[in-house]
Amino acid sequence: MNIKFTKPFYSGKELEYLKDVIENEKDITGDGEYTQKVHNYFENKYGVARALMTTSATTALEFAVRLLDLQQDDEILVPSFTFSSTVNAILVNFVKPVFVDVTEDTLNIDPQDIERKITSKTKAIMVVHYAGVACDMDKIMKIAKKYNLKVIEDAAQCIEAKHKNKYLGTIGDFGCLSFHGTKNVVAGEGGLLLINTKDEKVIRRAEIIREKGTNRTEFMLGQVDKYTWVDIGSSILPSDLLSALLYAQLENVDRNIKRRLAIYNKYAGSLTEYAKEGQIKLPTLPAYSVHNAHIFYILLQDNKSRNFLLKFLKDKGIGATFHYVPLHSSPYGKKMGYKAEDLPITESIAGRLLRLPLHAGMTAEEVQFVIKMTKKGLDEIKQIKIDQIPTLSIGIPAYNEVNNIKNVIQDVIAQNQIAYKLDEIIIVTDGCEDGTNRVVEKLAKKYPFIKMYHDGRRMGKASRLNQIYQLNKSKLLLTLDADVKLATSDEINKIVKALGKGVVVGGNLVPIKPKGFAKTLYYQNYALWNEMRQDLNSGDHIANLYGSATLVDGAFAKTVVYPANITADEEYLYFSAKKVNGFRFAKNTCFYFKPVQSFREYLIHGRRVLNERNYIVDYFGPESLKAHHIPTKTKIKELVKLGLFNPVVCFGVVVLNIIIRIAPQNDALNKEGMWQTLTTTKIISPR
Ligand SMILES: *Cc1c(COP(=O)(O)O)cnc(C)c1O
Repeated sequence: MNIKFTKPFYSGKELEYLKDVIENEKDITGDGEYTQKVHNYFENKYGVARALMTTSATTALEFAVRLLDLQQDDEILVPSFTFSSTVNAILVNFVKPVFVDVTEDTLNIDPQDIERKITSKTKAIMVVHYAGVACDMDKIMKIAKKYNLKVIEDAAQCIEAKHKNKYLGTIGDFGCLSFHGTKNVVAGEGGLLLINTKDEKVIRRAEIIREKGTNRTEFMLGQVDKYTWVDIGSSILPSDLLSALLYAQLENVDRNIKRRLAIYNKYAGSLTEYAKEGQIKLPTLPAYSVHNAHIFYILLQDNKSRNFLLKFLKDKGIGATFHYVPLHSSPYGKKMGYKAEDLPITESIAGRLLRLPLHAGMTAEEVQFVIKMTKKGLDEIKQIKIDQIPTLSIGIPAYNEVNNIKNVIQDVIAQNQIAYKLDEIIIVTDGCEDGTNRVVEKLAKKYPFIKMYHDGRRMGKASRLNQIYQLNKSKLLLTLDADVKLATSDEINKIVKALGKGVVVGGNLVPIKPKGFAKTLYYQNYALWNEMRQDLNSGDHIANLYGSATLVDGAFAKTVVYPANITADEEYLYFSAKKVNGFRFAKNTCFYFKPVQSFREYLIHGRRVLNERNYIVDYFGPESLKAHHIPTKTKIKELVKLGLFNPVVCFGVVVLNIIIRIAPQNDALNKEGMWQTLTTTKIISPR
């Protein structure tokens, strides 16, 4: 599913009204027929002295501050938990905003903190009714009266919402509504200034400013016989086309908000269990507030849980989001001299708030899906104890992987990290002649968590892996073959979860559906692997493998080893390496490998296996040649077995074997060198 966070809800009459304006060649500039209708609508319904359409709530807010006629040193109290427009409106008028904290219940401006922050310079309070839930206006108006302060209501989110029986935006001196495309009622872009004073001078001034500093309004009313420039003004009225669109929306507002409320209540009702348990906090709706379901949010216990759920929902195609980056701790807020801890409640809630999709066009099915997934995400948070999310190192041993290395790194980076936090990607290369290092170095410049280690000699895969074990600094380590293709995020997260339980997992990130020859091979190898496991059962840590083998049983196919008796299985390799070279056992280590999927692939891998010397060196390093010598007797035995099973392949293998034996050996084996860091992120001491 793909559920949008917000979407306009059209009444059906929008096109009719737009057509009316266009087809009947009505005035499309500001203040045409539909703008007048909108003005009348609000003046009658909201009972304000004057309602004036503006191009946005932002302009309405700027306009309101301008009408206060303040001086440069004056201060306006304003919450930091709001959209930047609220505070910009103050700053563009060269007045000083002073941030006030919010209360944890409604996330609205805290009257107590208002009183604390009042100085002799304070001239006004700008309140924001968050989510269409009213601020405590009785207390705020009382404070305003006591200190003789003006009140501007940022009611951008508040169409139809009330404080007791008064519409929001009609309580203070000025109120500002928004009809931005994301709000309950839309004009695309658009806003409204509500003027609540009966003071005719203020109303006249507003009309003049809005009419580019002219007295055109009086002229239109026939009060003056010509109009002219009388003050500094601006153009802040939208085209009548937008008002036509908006008017259709306003006629539809009841149905729109009824639907939103139904969804809101469904959300709240479905999540009460989680609220009772204390895992989340649902919005508080004070008795004095009649809200309009503009936003449904939940507060989680901490920032990690919030981010987890956000990612979780996004991964399921649900457009959940957060709100807001507090203004006082944003880059510009910091420039103004604020520190995050200055407004502790704002800082805390902003990190824990999550909004669910909410718009009147949502289907019942979509709402159910959002609820189901939110519950699932919350259950998961409980289960994984989010504050214990482990850090993960990804280790990639690479020898001549110029064609694969970029893909696998990008795959790892693209994963949706749910069960872990990616700490570092360690790439260990040795003796590469093909430009792998160059590719990795380029990527490491872009992503500082990529670390590369290199040795001029070809040290063997076991040695590469050992480097990774020693270097990794995270709680969990996952090593990947450079040529694996990671499948879904779910998969890697599942594996990491198993790792966290201390299980060593073998498996594959590519779903395996072996067919034909590969299928036979698959079962052959599975049997072989089982044998090997039993063989190793006397080892120190094999017990760990049992869990894993059952965990991803079906996925257990392997780079081919037949008919050699060195299994190229990294699982085996690992223990083998431990025995021969005394490598440490790395706890919580996991290996992934790619199965052979076709005969062609089989031959490619088979070739490597049969090239005994190169193969051994590749895996175990030059020192281990002797320890890994395969007795001729064993080889013949395996070839006979293969011959019985598939004579054609057996013949091919014998031929390949001969070809490889006479082929030249790899020069890189003889080069001198030692592990060295190629990127500067971490320096290691050479072995
Ligand atoms: C949306 C919003 C604004 C800005 O509205 P525009 O019409 O886009 O300018 C201002 N304040 C708050 C609280 C808002 O939610």
